[in-house]
Amino acid sequence: MSLRRILGLVAILVLSTVTGEKSTEEIERYLCKYGYLIENCNNERLASPENRVYAIKWWQMFSNIEVTGVIGPADEEVMNRRRCACEDVMQKDEVMNPDLQPQQFNLGPKWRKTTLSWKITKYSRKLSRPKTLSETRRALRHWSDVTPLRFTESSGDTDINISFETRVHGDGNANAFDGRGRVLAHAFFPSNGRVHFDEEEDWGFGDEVGDTKTDFFTVAVHEFGHTLGLFHSDIQGALMFPYYAGYNATFKLHTDDIRGIQSLYGPGPGRETTTPRPLTTFRPTTRAPQPRITPAPTPRPTQTPTLPTNCSIRIQAAVRDFDGTLLVFLRRNYVMRITERGFLDRFRVNNLFRRAPWNMEAAYSIPSLGRTFFMRGQRIWQFDRMRNRMGTILVQGGPRTMPERPRAVIATSGSGNDVEVFGSGIMWRMRMNGEVKVGSHRYIRSQYRGIPNEIDAAVRWDSRTIYFFKDDKFYRYDTQRRYVAMEGDFGPAFLKGNCGNAPK
Ligand SMILES: [Zn+2]
Ligand SMILES: [Zn+2]
Repeated sequence: MSLRRILGLVAILVLSTVTGEKSTEEIERYLCKYGYLIENCNNERLASPENRVYAIKWWQMFSNIEVTGVIGPADEEVMNRRRCACEDVMQKDEVMNPDLQPQQFNLGPKWRKTTLSWKITKYSRKLSRPKTLSETRRALRHWSDVTPLRFTESSGDTDINISFETRVHGDGNANAFDGRGRVLAHAFFPSNGRVHFDEEEDWGFGDEVGDTKTDFFTVAVHEFGHTLGLFHSDIQGALMFPYYAGYNATFKLHTDDIRGIQSLYGPGPGRETTTPRPLTTFRPTTRAPQPRITPAPTPRPTQTPTLPTNCSIRIQAAVRDFDGTLLVFLRRNYVMRITERGFLDRFRVNNLFRRAPWNMEAAYSIPSLGRTFFMRGQRIWQFDRMRNRMGTILVQGGPRTMPERPRAVIATSGSGNDVEVFGSGIMWRMRMNGEVKVGSHRYIRSQYRGIPNEIDAAVRWDSRTIYFFKDDKFYRYDTQRRYVAMEGDFGPAFLKGNCGNAPK
């Protein structure tokens, strides 16, 4: 073992004894910086315990670690990890302002052209210039390979400007770099184009980085994702996951990253796309095409003369809340909150989502935007979870409207802004501004084998799981192996037998 290695270990040991307990102030600063908390972020006061616990759970959910609501030693280790300085939950109004006009509704930032020029304005003193250039080209190529985007080097005025910076460096105190470790880099959303790397990191290239140095290429591909308009993804293994994953000799973009970038720019001509070839492509119409195969009729649950229980209730919509609980929306404006332990409480939707629509048909949540969306007919409501208020209601119009009423909806990517809407037998993709993507119509049965044609609700649970709900049944769909891994009765599986009485 080399002396350097031993010194490194000593340093880690010293660090871990010193950082055994982060103060509540430090924890809240971290949660504020990455967008999980907004209460009292600009003053010395603490947030309310309720908001702090919710923010910790949200961060734990996003980071794919155990959701406990308290910060233990394992959580502190994650908080000390090398990562990107960009927010996980976008709180900046320029990204999505609920007061904007509907046509500006949550478009997500993107470049309005496909050829982007770039240059490196300030190199690192620690890295060879020719190698920094070639690794930058290689990083950009990963994005141009899956989109119509083209990148050109230039020495004049460029769209993308890359530089290595130290501490406070001209974009505000909040963006100051922090020396070696923790924050590695940040980038601005379109059409700003600035990409900054922390010069004080121990930068290296490829194989040479080991555990102690940081690979420039790996961080660069991630930062360029932001430059092109992607948010952080809560999908572990995605490039847009906020934490540094280390050098990988066979690096490829994750399906989640490709979905995200293609939701903004579309696939490149004749290039790789994550959308499987359609069996049939529909044009958006006002009437639903009849699916050729109808499933065998589902036997109706036996009606008992007594009040129906929560275990046999018909689900209207469902989302996974940011603290990890499952919210199930029922008729007559009731919502059930279910934890993984099956705990159940039930209250009026308006107690949690003020001004939410009566009898919504579908709902979805985007953790990186802090928003929960509700759909009914051609309308979309967006609820700002952090500020606890309903934003603009979008009314769909124009030629690209939904072909039929939505039954369920899920987000397609952790970092993008496309959603998949399920109708009766068919499904389609929609941008968050409500625009249905032309040519995105598919039969549900061709995309999700084993799922009933007419589902009641769907929830994207984690990186490989979607739950579909139909009557009192659930279907756990494995998105990697593309099959129904489990199906069963909703009540026993989710409520653990705690059925109670349903609302009249
Ligand atoms: Zn980032
Ligand atoms: Zn900067």
